Amino acid sequence: MSEECPRVFSIQSHVVSGYVGNKSAVFPLQVLGFEVDAINSVQFSNHTGYPSFHGQVLNETELDVLLKGLQENGLDKYTHLLTGYVGSPSFLRRIAALVQHLRKVNPKLIYVLLKGGSVAVCDPVMGDNGRMYVSEELLPIYRDTILPLADIIVPNQFEVELLTGRNVTSVAEAWEAVQLFHDKGIKTVVLTSTGLGTDSHLLALASSTLGGTARKMSINIPKFSATFTGTGDLFAALLLAWMHRTKGDLKSSIENVIHTMQAVLTKTMKHVEDCSQKGIALTAAHNELKLIQSIEEMKKPLPTLLADIH
Ligand code: ADP
Ligand code: PLP
Ligand code: ZN
Repeated sequence: MSEECPRVFSIQSHVVSGYVGNKSAVFPLQVLGFEVDAINSVQFSNHTGYPSFHGQVLNETELDVLLKGLQENGLDKYTHLLTGYVGSPSFLRRIAALVQHLRKVNPKLIYVLLKGGSVAVCDPVMGDNGRMYVSEELLPIYRDTILPLADIIVPNQFEVELLTGRNVTSVAEAWEAVQLFHDKGIKTVVLTSTGLGTDSHLLALASSTLGGTARKMSINIPKFSATFTGTGDLFAALLLAWMHRTKGDLKSSIENVIHTMQAVLTKTMKHVEDCSQKGIALTAAHNELKLIQSIEEMKKPLPTLLADIH
């Protein structure tokens, strides 16, 4: 498994239409030169932010069948594991065992945990039980079993609060939360967004203890006045790619990630505004990320004037 041929195992959701989960992560990783093997933890018609969605959920037995095939053919050799949306506790526990197995095969495996949809998104199979039922069961598994296995985590503010059991109402509290994750042994922690910035900027925090020296940075991200879905998944994929390409340089990785994110969102917003000007009634579909259209900015992220990283 050479340095030149990074191979990512991505276990995330699939949507037939639109861009979240693997649909948001696989293309950018491929564009940046990564081989990607994807398992779809769910297959939904569209993301859960639409008025309705339908589809299938992969259970842990079905996951095991796929892993068995990979294992039998010696295909379970990965440089990176990226996990996102997981709907059930048993599936999540199976992922913990998988990390340990993949580390046996490749002790240098990097595990990037996208602590995303699993808590924020309701599992349709458990629809009757409601959102909190699912969250409550998944939460201790994430906190106690999965987090200590991760090398890089990319939670948003809401997820940080759930995982640490603390409110994050100030920048100082956000840094305390970051430290709690480091205390669990996670070397790179990126809080992808908080509402602790200004009216015009989101504040993100990134911190790495790679190489023994702590490196902390605050990132002021120019804010678009819209809500997007799949951005966390795209962010995680880009961060994985750039941390590999820069050999763990967090600052330049974050710069490249933010520049690409801004380019994608600028294109997405342009589409939304164009449609709005034409008098077209806006739906969730208009806010789907303009990923394919941003291929050049993915390959060569250009500095955005406004992003301020220090
Ligand atoms: P998630 O999509 O998992 O909730 P975030 O909301 O933190 O994650 O978004 C991840 C990244 O997407 C942010 O770091 C930022 O770069 C970008 N992003 C998301 N929403 C916006 C927005 N409204 N304006 C600017 N950037 C955004
Ligand atoms: N996967 C599915 C099926 C979703 O519906 C969502 C959000 O609605 C996500 C993943 C996570 O998206 P994000 O990257 O915005 O956290
Ligand atoms: Zn997310």
